Amino acid sequence: MRKERVRLVNNFKEEDGPIIYWMSRDQRIHDNWALMFAQEKAIKRRQPLIILFCLQQKFLNATQRIYNFMLDGLKKVERSLNKLNIPFIILKGAPEKIILDFIESFKISNIIIDFSPLRIKREWIKRIHDQIQIPIFEVDTHNIIPCWEVSNKKEYAAYTIRSKIQKKLNQYLDQFPDVKKHPYGWNESYEKIDWEKLKKYLEVSNNDVHDLRYNPGETEGSSILKQFLNEKLKLYNQNRNDPNLDGTSNLSPYLHFGHISAQRVILEARKIMNISNLKGGFYDEIIVRRELSDNFCYYEPNYDNVNGIHDWAIETLNFHRKDKREYIYSLEEFEKAKTHDKLWNAAQMQMVKTGKMHGYLRMYWCKKILEWTETPEIAMKMAIFLNNKYELDGRDPNGYVGIAWSIGGVHDRAWNERKVFGKIRYMSYNGMKRKFNITQYIEKYSI
Ligand SMILES: Cc1cc2nc3c(=O)[nH]c(=O)nc-3n(C[C@H](O)[C@H](O)[C@H](O)COP(=O)(O)OP(=O)(O)OC[C@H]3O[C@@H](n4cnc5c(N)ncnc54)[C@H](O)[C@@H]3O)c2cc1C
Repeated sequence: MRKERVRLVNNFKEEDGPIIYWMSRDQRIHDNWALMFAQEKAIKRRQPLIILFCLQQKFLNATQRIYNFMLDGLKKVERSLNKLNIPFIILKGAPEKIILDFIESFKISNIIIDFSPLRIKREWIKRIHDQIQIPIFEVDTHNIIPCWEVSNKKEYAAYTIRSKIQKKLNQYLDQFPDVKKHPYGWNESYEKIDWEKLKKYLEVSNNDVHDLRYNPGETEGSSILKQFLNEKLKLYNQNRNDPNLDGTSNLSPYLHFGHISAQRVILEARKIMNISNLKGGFYDEIIVRRELSDNFCYYEPNYDNVNGIHDWAIETLNFHRKDKREYIYSLEEFEKAKTHDKLWNAAQMQMVKTGKMHGYLRMYWCKKILEWTETPEIAMKMAIFLNNKYELDGRDPNGYVGIAWSIGGVHDRAWNERKVFGKIRYMSYNGMKRKFNITQYIEKYSI
């Protein structure tokens, strides 16, 4: 594998002892560079390889059904790892405590971590780093080009990162090796995972009355990909913005939990359609926009509040801060889809009922939250809350950036000035009406 995918977080000397891969963002076995790297190292040093997952009692407002999706996916990970002679252990609690205890108890020699640009994970790593004296390796197995390799600064927009991606893409689109049956077993006894007990450990809201439309796991992710490539890819540009057509890939839940790798998606899609141009179509979304989101969250500490938006955007929003809002809704009214706008309500209900709102409507949905709340700060907080709570793919850099784009013009440009929005791009009900059959959509998803 390319060495640039890995970086050493500290400088400690490698000793002998089992190696752990702390699986977190990329919950899959195949096509996972972090796992490959960990196994390669373990085999070279003739050591057992252990995979850990740290379960949090709550996480960024995720609810029970989202946890269920994740835990059911992890159950499948455990089953496959059993066949590969690799123990899978779920630890409960704060990673900086439980991982440290684990390292000490079992004389662990190295820890391999998958990369995430989000604050919470980076803080965990920092706290672990401050307390241990074994090497920590971080592997970006989520992006095709590692986030730290594609650019060393916060990019201004898609056009500034696109050419950087274009230059390096081919060299990073290498084939994945297979995971091997691990030759060195671990002799320690460890507790078998009790999945029902784990669910009881959670402190999350379980008021969801709707089941998700999606089933978790690598196999499911692969079959959704197959269906997309066979039936939808060629018509993607034509159909992607019509929420009645279901013309997008629906891969985001699988990409978010790492059940599928974006690199695998591209390797397969490339067999059907050339990557001659990264502008405008599917490749632009899954490569450029996705990697741009990680870039923003990695280099912008305020990725989830208005301090992270461009100066021109904050100026214009401040200028229109006192503009009279025609409607003001509370979080509860938004959450229960009780606005005057039937299209907005239907979009909210698509998210609540299925766990995934159509991408085109997400922009409209979020911009209306700006229009119908007292301040951009409140709008951003509410949008993040709802997005993280109900979207299966929420709690993701793409979500923070989608919201910052809609409310704060991040990665966008200034548009004609108008009430409340200032120069932030506006979207209207009538505009949506011209784009697709909103009556059909409203009928399908209204309460
Ligand atoms: C307000 C708002 C909130 C959003 N919240 C999230 C979120 O929480 N999680 C999330 O993954 N995406 C989010 N997006 C981006 C986008 O809407 C979803 O990724 C897309 O709708 C997922 O559906 P799909 O997999 O069928 O997309 P497809 O159109 O098939 O795209 C394939 C993949 O490309 C990536 N992608 C597509 N559009 C974008 C985009 N605009 N920015 C970054 N990556 C993109 C996603 O990984 C997606 O799965 C948000 C966008 C907005 C405007």
